[in-house]
Amino acid sequence: MARFIFITGGVVSSLGKGLASAALGSLLQARGFTVRLRKLDPYLNVDPGTMSPFEHGEVFVTDDGAETDLDLGHYERFTGVAARATDSVSSGRIYSNVLEKERRGDYLGKTIQVIPHVTNEIKDFIRIGEDEVDFMLCEIGGTVGDIEGLPFFEAIRQFAQEKPRGECIFMHLTLLPYIKASGELKTKPTQHSVKELRSIGLAPDILVCRSEMPIPQKERDKLALFCNVRPEAVIAAQDLNSIYEAPLAYHREGMDQAVLDAFGISPAPKPDLSRWEDVSDRIFNAEGEVKVAIVGKYTQLEDAYKSIAEALTHGGMANRVKVNVEWVDAEIFDSEDAAPYLEGFHAILVPGGFGERGTEGKIKAAEFARTRKIPYLGICLGMQMAVIEAARNVANLADAGSEEFDHEAGKKRFTPVVYHLKEWVQGNATVTRRVEDAKGGTMRLGSYTAHLKEGSKVAGIYGASVIEERHRHRYEVDIKYRDKLEDKGLIFSGMSPDGRLPEIVEWADHPWFIGVQFHPELKSKPFAPHPLFADFVRAAVETSRLV
Ligand code: GLN
Repeated sequence: MARFIFITGGVVSSLGKGLASAALGSLLQARGFTVRLRKLDPYLNVDPGTMSPFEHGEVFVTDDGAETDLDLGHYERFTGVAARATDSVSSGRIYSNVLEKERRGDYLGKTIQVIPHVTNEIKDFIRIGEDEVDFMLCEIGGTVGDIEGLPFFEAIRQFAQEKPRGECIFMHLTLLPYIKASGELKTKPTQHSVKELRSIGLAPDILVCRSEMPIPQKERDKLALFCNVRPEAVIAAQDLNSIYEAPLAYHREGMDQAVLDAFGISPAPKPDLSRWEDVSDRIFNAEGEVKVAIVGKYTQLEDAYKSIAEALTHGGMANRVKVNVEWVDAEIFDSEDAAPYLEGFHAILVPGGFGERGTEGKIKAAEFARTRKIPYLGICLGMQMAVIEAARNVANLADAGSEEFDHEAGKKRFTPVVYHLKEWVQGNATVTRRVEDAKGGTMRLGSYTAHLKEGSKVAGIYGASVIEERHRHRYEVDIKYRDKLEDKGLIFSGMSPDGRLPEIVEWADHPWFIGVQFHPELKSKPFAPHPLFADFVRAAVETSRLV
């Protein structure tokens, strides 16, 4: 049976609760325990799938096809444990389950209330798979005091109360602001935040305090006294140069020891931190630099492409170089020459995206990379744009385009080289969708198998002939155009097992030009860089040597 660690936040948002949770998970693993991490989000969307990346950052997709919070990406990158649909839940999902049960008559005529019906639903969620791991880490989104968060806080209070003593602990993340005029780190906001928690029946065992500088003993003692925690359980979380320093930094601060102490686990198993020591060494002792352009739409908010940025960092680590990413807004060269914006980069990546805005620019980026022989990685929409570019400029299909854009515009303008997929095979079942279907959760989502062509570049990179990767899209390259494009050198080197859906394309006559219909970035880890990203960065290093 798992022990539970509930992680809450106070004072302000964006303190890195997800990262702290993920790092703690990795430290418990380093001590030989198994872990699973979960996120409980108070917002009312049923899932983040329909939220704009500008609002909420990237949507992280699990193998089993759930569209989840980007914190699940951190969890997976730090622990290597593949996230599942049951690792993420929102108020919207909880309420929608409760209302569905109410309509079905499951509550036998009772009045439905937050306590116990909503809180029971939350507790049921927390319990899923509790006998599979040693530790279950549950992060509550938002900050204490938010109206939406209350049912979650109440549910974890009840949950801990119902469990035998010593099986649940609470970790609270806060901010210690530094006041320049007095030269002090202030503990008052943390005291208030803990007071707020205690007023709803929760008492933290561990305080993680974000601060710009080390926390002097005097302030630690004060926090311990006023917030009713042990002085060793006040963990300083100073700003870091790289997120991948977090496990070692938190370990030095005694976070994992404090957690084991709070559970009364003694003697504590010795940690093996070699994985994180190697990761740090690769980050801080890079032997060169490359410049990569990410040509996308949501460039104002880096979180929109979080996993891609991280996967590039991992690719850099594999080659012991630093990858400097520049975000280029594709719309700028929708109707001009792309060259002035793209010259000087050692590689170009066109990520996933939705909608027509900026796509002409992305097509130009693909053309630039193809003709100048610059390494190109096209992900999902980035692959579709590369195929459209090939169709238009190499295979004489001047009006090639994607049905997605015609649907959006409400008129037919393009030959649909990329078309709306209405039926496909998942395992042994056929999935069907209509254009008019509601937006949420209607895509080809989750893990699918692809067969790689023998002797192709990707087969060499993966060192395999069958792979599994995660998908999130509605549109698909039409195999009708395969022969025409292969004649011109664009090889369809990865296909769905039934041979109907192109999964990967690559230019035969190019040092490194690969488009993938899936999202390889979601499976990359700092200690196991994804082969496509590792090789893409290797190709970028080679380009950098040529100039
Ligand atoms: N908009 C495209 C589709 O739905 C690509 C999606 C993506 O890049 N994730 O197929």
